[in-house]
Amino acid sequence: MLLTITTTRAPATDLGYLLHKNPSRLQSFPLSFGHAHVFYPEATSERCTAALLLDVDPVALVRNRRGPAGEGGTLDQYVNDRPYVASSFLSVAIARVLGSALAGRSKDRPELTDVRMPLQAKISVLPCRGGEEFLRRLFEPLGYEVIATRHVLDEKFPEWGASLYYTVELRGHVRLQDLLTHIYVLIPVLDNEKHYWVGDDEVEKLLRHGSGWLAAHPEKEEITKRYLKYRRDLAREALARLVDEELPDPDVNERVHNTEEEAIERPLNLNEQRINAVMAALKSSGAKRIVDLGCGEGKLLRALLEDRSIEEIVGLDVSHRALQIAQERLRLDRMPTRQRERLKFIQGSLMYRDKRIAGYDAATVIEVIEHLDQPRLTAFERVLFEFAKPSAVVLTTPNVEYNSRFETLPAGKLRHKDHRFEWTRQQFKDWSEAIAKQHGYAVKLIPVGPEDSVLGAPTQMAVFNLIAS
Ligand code: SAH
Repeated sequence: MLLTITTTRAPATDLGYLLHKNPSRLQSFPLSFGHAHVFYPEATSERCTAALLLDVDPVALVRNRRGPAGEGGTLDQYVNDRPYVASSFLSVAIARVLGSALAGRSKDRPELTDVRMPLQAKISVLPCRGGEEFLRRLFEPLGYEVIATRHVLDEKFPEWGASLYYTVELRGHVRLQDLLTHIYVLIPVLDNEKHYWVGDDEVEKLLRHGSGWLAAHPEKEEITKRYLKYRRDLAREALARLVDEELPDPDVNERVHNTEEEAIERPLNLNEQRINAVMAALKSSGAKRIVDLGCGEGKLLRALLEDRSIEEIVGLDVSHRALQIAQERLRLDRMPTRQRERLKFIQGSLMYRDKRIAGYDAATVIEVIEHLDQPRLTAFERVLFEFAKPSAVVLTTPNVEYNSRFETLPAGKLRHKDHRFEWTRQQFKDWSEAIAKQHGYAVKLIPVGPEDSVLGAPTQMAVFNLIAS
């Protein structure tokens, strides 16, 4: 297994300082699964290449095997591709042998660590589960040119066809730390085989190395899922935290904009009318166990708590800050035990299937969907109506037609800067009816707030009831 890194930024031999490895020496490092060797096949002022050669010992692999029991005892332990291909072993070697460069440190040339330079990485044998297309989807959004050459399974038997192994070259104008980090995270993702047990600290590792690029990566879900080896609970936690990171400062923005939205709607006392309408819908559905999705700072939770007929209340939000404010506002710390036992908070994202919200009598989604862009809205639809599947759903969203009636809202503007859309009554009706049909619910649309004969009411509410099968 060979990884080479080449730069042409003069003096190219500075690469040695960045990697903390002297170009004139061959160095070897023992690792639990074999040895890593670092050497420089070329080192001139115009062009310098460092090579990391991994010599994986299949016997040491079996002896030092860590991980869940129950995999042992098969020939597979000794006869496999692990010694020959780029895998999470390469990531471990990068962290051990090139740790300072991976962390963006250089003792002798600290000013260089932040310099973007022409860099090429070549990985001799890389298993690409998901094919060349997936390989491209991983690296191209990060700004790399990807050159991939696929290997046949066996040169002697061309009729056996192509293998999943590629020689891959990545070319970019990046910081060395970025290149190493992208390789560190994405090689195991491509390989998609585990060699070590994935534990909770893997989440921290992924978020640390993914900081600054993973949250905005179009494949972040697949990357996270594979990196965490399909441990759904871990992937969910990591993704929820990535959603947080993606919004520049979600809490600050959200709060400022919430205040603006409230100011626009305040003359109508719309918030109160909305909560009353939602409570009435919940009452008529007879719900006793309710989950409030995107609960924000807890306005509806307060009303739910006041209704003694409701036994269990769960507030979910992706924003830690919002949950904290909700707990402060409801004075959770001073609430009598019996009250407090009715209420639970969970931090989570509506983008991911989540057992913790499954099977409730009712879910409320108050002024939330307009914060979701199209792909997220689609994910949310399945999360709620297909997986969580509450008996009833009460959902509200602004009616955009009514906006011209708000005196303080400039024409053509939405009520909140973070709104991805605001729908007309027809759009909301079409969406609600399509969802209801697809997932076996009956739906009723109810206007909320003062109704204009032409424009309708400022808020629109849909009440879904699961049709018993
Ligand atoms: N329901 C509340 C808050 C509405 S603001 C009320 O009526 O006052 C929208 C809320 O949705 C915010 O608190 C925001 O953090 C939350 N949110 C946005 N995207 C989310 C996601 N993907 N998962 C969970 N919550 C989300």
